[in-house]
Amino acid sequence: MAYSVTLIPGDGIGTEVSGAARRVLEATGVEFDWDIQEAGVTALEKHGDVLPDAVIDSIRKNNIALKGPLTTPVGGGFRSVNVALRHALELYANLRPSRSYDGVQSSFDNVDLVVVRENMEDLYAGVEFEQGASDTAEIIAEINKRSEKPVSKTAALSIKAITPENSRRIVKFAFEYARENGRKLVTSVHKANIMKYTDGLFLEVSQAVASEYPDIEFNDRIVDNMCMQLMQKPEQYDVLVMPNLYGDIVSDMTSGMIGGLGVAPSANIGEKGAVFEAIHGSAPSHAGKNVANPTAMILSGVMMLRHLREFDAANAVENGVKKIIAEGKNVTYDLREDRDQSKAAKTSEMADAIIAEIQK
Ligand code: NAD
Repeated sequence: MAYSVTLIPGDGIGTEVSGAARRVLEATGVEFDWDIQEAGVTALEKHGDVLPDAVIDSIRKNNIALKGPLTTPVGGGFRSVNVALRHALELYANLRPSRSYDGVQSSFDNVDLVVVRENMEDLYAGVEFEQGASDTAEIIAEINKRSEKPVSKTAALSIKAITPENSRRIVKFAFEYARENGRKLVTSVHKANIMKYTDGLFLEVSQAVASEYPDIEFNDRIVDNMCMQLMQKPEQYDVLVMPNLYGDIVSDMTSGMIGGLGVAPSANIGEKGAVFEAIHGSAPSHAGKNVANPTAMILSGVMMLRHLREFDAANAVENGVKKIIAEGKNVTYDLREDRDQSKAAKTSEMADAIIAEIQK
């Protein structure tokens, strides 16, 4: 039976890389019934909204989506499609694996890390108060009545809220992921030495959840020390779970450690659905040239296949990608040492080479 999957092709290089990923996924023999939905600038032009209700309805119905990158129009008060999707579908876990592939230029070898980032709260929730506004002055006055440490009247405020419920949910997700994927260690990343109440709570909950998983090792690291240790001995770490903002920053760092955006996949997962997408954006300067690297989008498809428990197909695609990158012949310009566009494979040609590997 074919899987019903919402496909958001994206814009800019999005349509090219998602088109490549679609062909590669179909080459595995797994059948898909794609429900194609437009979002972002394409939807804005046609429907007057960057995120039409039909997109959310389709993902709610199918519980799963593959999404190409979307351009967020600058100005005009447009809501961010990614943030709106995460909140509408309560996709609370952002899963960002970083694995080294032979043939990708990088200062690190043998990186195999998974960042599990809380997606719903922390400083990312957007609870902010503008400098000089009357609301801000009232809140500062109230804080100064209750806190021994005064906040300057000239300050702007961003509120960091951490709840035990969301902390527990994300840490449990990390342990369940570790168990399902044969991972040995979960590290809770925080700044509890300074933010004793918010990050202290995240750490306390992490320790409590860890005690429910005696088969998985657990430790914790302060976020700055975590970054240094990842630079020095990444092989000592495995699954890293952390609040939203640290997750955003640390996962970009781990993507950089494996060669950057072109090869970094991700998933946003909740109880009601899952959206798989490359970490990179729509790279407008490359759009329409068939030169963008499709790897991140194809590896996001691999994550989707594993989510669907199509493990053989997932392994076939991942092995195909590995082989083509290691050979270094049929790869896009960014994966070539000389970065010579004239000698590089096009987006579609790299996908063709991966398909040929899968079908060998
Ligand atoms: P970007 O990721 O689109 O591009 C940054 C640079 O990275 C590009 O100039 C390009 O050199 C390189 N790059 C990215 N992906 C590549 C690929 N597959 N192959 C080869 N090179 C690649 O980031 P940006 O320029 O900051 O953002 C462009 C647009 O994308 C913005 O509108 C932004 O809001 C949007 N965006 C969307 C998403 C998403 O939909 N998930 C994520 C990030 C940015």
